[in-house]
Parts: sequence; C-alpha cells; structure tokens
Amino acid sequence: MTGDFKRVRVELEKLVDLQITDTHIRKLKQAIESAEQRRANIEQEFEKHAFSIREIQGRRDGLQAERTELERQIAENKTYKERAERNLKHAQNQKEYETAMREIDALQKQITTFETQVIEKMTASEEVEKELESRADEINTLDAKRAEALKEFDDELKTNTAELEDENKKREAVFTTLPAQLASVYNRLAQRSRDGIAVAEVVNGSCSACFMSLRPQMQVEVKKGDQIITCESCTRILYIASKPAQSEATAS
Ligand SMILES: [Zn+2]
Repeated sequence: MTGDFKRVRVELEKLVDLQITDTHIRKLKQAIESAEQRRANIEQEFEKHAFSIREIQGRRDGLQAERTELERQIAENKTYKERAERNLKHAQNQKEYETAMREIDALQKQITTFETQVIEKMTASEEVEKELESRADEINTLDAKRAEALKEFDDELKTNTAELEDENKKREAVFTTLPAQLASVYNRLAQRSRDGIAVAEVVNGSCSACFMSLRPQMQVEVKKGDQIITCESCTRILYIASKPAQSEATAS
C-alpha cells in the first residue's frame, strides 16, 4: 500500500507538472500565432498618430501656399495700379482720366481684399503652429517610440519562441516517464477539452475545471492520493495541492 501510495503520488505530481507545462505551451503558441496581428495593431496605433500629425502639417503647408499666392496677386495688382496711375498722370482727356481713376479704384479694392485675406491666413497659421507646438513632444518622439515598441514586441516574440522550444522539451521529458496508459488518458482528456485541461485542482471542494462540487467521500479520496480519481462530471483527473509539500519545497 505504501509503495502504491508513493507511486501514485509521483504520477500525480508528474501529471500536475505536465498540465502546468501544457497550459504554458498553449499560451505561448497563442501568443506566437497572434503575433503578426498584434504587431500590425501596434503599427496601426502609431500610424493613427502620424496621420493626425500629417493632417495638421498639411493644413499649415496649405495656409502657407495660399498666403504666398495672395501675396503674388497683391504684387501683381500693385504693378497694374502703378501703370494705371501713370495713365492717370498722362490722361489726355476726361474719358481717359475717368477710366484710369476707375481702374485704380478697383485695383485698390482688390488689393485691400487680398491684404485682409493675408491677415486671416496668418491668424489661421498661428493657430496651427500653436497646435503643432502643443504636440511637439509627440511629434519629435513618435518615430523613436514606434521603433521602441516594435523592438520590445519582437524581443518578446523571440523570448516566447525560445521558451516554447524549452517547454516542448520539458514536456517530452516528463511525458515519456508516465505509464503508457496514464499518458494516453492524459492526452485524450487534454485533446478533448477546448482549454486543454486534463488535470484539475480541487478548490474549495469543487473541480476547478467544471465547478462541480465533489461528494465528501471523493474529497477524502482525492486528498489521500493513493489512486487516480477523476471528476464525476467532466472526467478530468483531480488533485489537491498539498500544502505541507509546498512548504517543504520552499523550506529546502
Ligand atoms: Zn470536473
């Protein structure tokens, strides 16, 4: 009986160990499989910021171009106005005089309109500059932050990949020491459930996988640990984490 107890205890410990390793392997695989999408999400997040900054810079450049165009038109109109003023000086008759006067008047109105528009563009430009100024930190650090975030992500992926390789080896090492029948029971249970859980801890008298309460007699049997007990509801292998063993482990 003592020998049996020890054997089952060792096997149960291996099963628990295997379950921890397999759960970790699942998480690592999920992280690796979703890596491409998660990396794209990081890039997209940064692209959103970059896009909004480019939009403001585009507005600034647009206002600058409009102002330059207005100033060109003002200069052109001033040239026309000077010519009209010369015409006025050399007017030979009343009709020429009036034509030149009307032309000067119209050109001056046009120049005043353009000058008002230049002031409007300048005011708008100042607002945009203020907006850019308030986001200067973000603008200046965006590229570096993106590179940093992606590097961090790539490093994590590398770590996960290496860890997965280690865990696979570890799993193989534990798995091969299990009795063939128990190994196949474990695999069947693990493959059957969506979460890959074959071995479930009993927490507060219930199976932690399906939350079914255990009959008191079963709790006693699981606690004894001299045979493999499975949940009556979900058929997973049950165990109770032995606290004395844990404190022994931490003490040694
Ligand atoms: Zn259960």
